[in-house]
Amino acid sequence: MSRRKKNFPCGHKGYGQRCHRCAQEQMARNEKQQQKNAWEETFSKDTIDLRPFPKNVVLKARQILTALANQQDYRHFHGKRLRHDRFVITQIPHFKK
Ligand SMILES: [Zn+2]
Repeated sequence: MSRRKKNFPCGHKGYGQRCHRCAQEQMARNEKQQQKNAWEETFSKDTIDLRPFPKNVVLKARQILTALANQQDYRHFHGKRLRHDRFVITQIPHFKK
């Protein structure tokens, strides 16, 4: 069975009913969007609103919050680096209740 390449409206050439290149690009876009949605979804589970903070701060804050939830002493967590994160240190007392 021989197949012939055809020109799709998007300008690509290929086989089948629709352009696989565009389908792949669309899938990549969807995946990216899903990742973004998934990332935004994670904020609803936080005990404090971390949305205004950059991703690395958010991730670190969550580690600390998780550690706190596990009854760990925050002073033992990440040692010196933690002291530079005033945001984390100052937020924690409000959520130790
Ligand atoms: Zn295409």
